[in-house]
Amino acid sequence: MGDVIEMLRAGLPAAAVVTDPEVTASYARDMAGFSAAGVPLAVVLPRTVAEVQHVMRTATAERVAVVPQGARTGLSGGANAVDGCIVLSLRKMDRILEIDPVDRVAVVEPGVVNAVLSRAVAERGLSYPPDPSSWEQCTIGGNIGTGAGGLCCVKYGVTAEYVLGLDVVLADGRLLSTGRRTAKGVAGYDLTRLFVGSEGTLGVVVKAVVALRPAPPPQLALVAEFPSAAAACAAVCAIMEGGHVPSLLELMDATTIRAVNAMAQMGLPESTEALLLAAFDTPDPAADLAALGALCTAAGATEVVPAQDAAESELLLQARRLSLTALEKVSTATMIDDVCVPRGRLGEMLDGVAAIAERHGLTIGVCAHAGDGNTHPVVCFDAHDPEESRRARESFDEIMALGLALGGTITGEHGVGLLKRDWLARELGPTGVELQRGIKAVFDPLGLLNPGKVF
Ligand SMILES: Cc1cc2nc3c(=O)[nH]c(=O)nc-3n(C[C@H](O)[C@H](O)[C@H](O)COP(=O)(O)OP(=O)(O)OC[C@H]3O[C@@H](n4cnc5c(N)ncnc54)[C@H](O)[C@@H]3O)c2cc1C
Repeated sequence: MGDVIEMLRAGLPAAAVVTDPEVTASYARDMAGFSAAGVPLAVVLPRTVAEVQHVMRTATAERVAVVPQGARTGLSGGANAVDGCIVLSLRKMDRILEIDPVDRVAVVEPGVVNAVLSRAVAERGLSYPPDPSSWEQCTIGGNIGTGAGGLCCVKYGVTAEYVLGLDVVLADGRLLSTGRRTAKGVAGYDLTRLFVGSEGTLGVVVKAVVALRPAPPPQLALVAEFPSAAAACAAVCAIMEGGHVPSLLELMDATTIRAVNAMAQMGLPESTEALLLAAFDTPDPAADLAALGALCTAAGATEVVPAQDAAESELLLQARRLSLTALEKVSTATMIDDVCVPRGRLGEMLDGVAAIAERHGLTIGVCAHAGDGNTHPVVCFDAHDPEESRRARESFDEIMALGLALGGTITGEHGVGLLKRDWLARELGPTGVELQRGIKAVFDPLGLLNPGKVF
């Protein structure tokens, strides 16, 4: 293995190859609990495409596994090290190369942090809509790796809809350019889309052309209190059926509300069973919110409180963004699920999760990108208690089974990674898995890129 380190160092600056075990151990895992992580041989932090190519050529020559990483905020174990691998952290490739207001695109390196890009394009009167709650930490490369969603996706769509073209270093070190920067383009298969959500198993993204939109007006939000999660879900259906296009439609259940208050003293109402947060970034958001508020009341909301201004609206969003972090503090360990169902089945999903929690005697808090039908049931448990840990794992699995039974998917935005590997075949079926394995073999015949993830 000394040879591998020597070979890596031959084509990289000294500081770019880290072998100190204490430091490399800190790169071993992402933020998913309950996922195995191996011990890396080295962590490599390249700054150029040529350096990434050197890493991949070395890995291929020596048959060493490579795990691409962004900011390691992933929630599926997808960025976890495997024993003896090279961790390839793209964080230092963090330049915004171009912002073009005519073509409405940005060209970025993979290590650019989502919020940094959002702020940079905002200065030019533009927006990059995909906004995961982790936007202050997560990278565009990681967002592409997972096919990330976020809060405003209910109106603007997810990462896949904004990635126009990619530069990708393949397993053997070749550089592939996919896609376009033009408004249209249909030459050949859509390899760009194939890479989005491929979780580092097909190639290493080293550059991305992403679409931008004109910056919308500041959004105005409201919060509605409901006596049950099912009533809040009925309001979501009424809002969508009524033809409304909110820029945000999020749900927090009672456990989540209490967890956020406990962590950040946000003053959210604790006497309610569910909160719906909604916002509009339209020319007359107050009028749109009034119409939406009326639908909430008709669905059983006990209180509908509009924010006074954009700053108060941002505070409400802040509360929602803190939800997962706050729920993680409810117990010594959590498993965060990510099941997306058709919106019309959202109420059944939430009632079903509550029944699973009761059956297993566990706390399961739910926050959701409700407008997308994307739920995040967070199973809270004591990791030091083997019996409770077993029940937590069973609950986690039952939640995925419920999602599939309701016509949904096991993962709306966090990816399969390690956490949901055993479930992929249940969603795709044998033919789907066989074809996907075939695609993996075309790009990575030696199986060196992020082995053991997804399949
Ligand atoms: C508090 C919190 C809130 C969150 N909220 C959301 C949310 O609202 N929506 C959402 O979708 N997710 C959310 N997440 C999950 C996570 O932030 C996203 O999955 C994010 O896209 C991961 O980005 P990252 O830079 O941290 O990537 P990592 O975790 O480092 O990697 C993620 C995957 O992408 C691969 N990868 C990374 N970089 C590259 C590259 N350059 N080339 C090829 N593959 C690569 C990795 O191998 C891995 O499989 C949240 C996480 C936390 C902790």
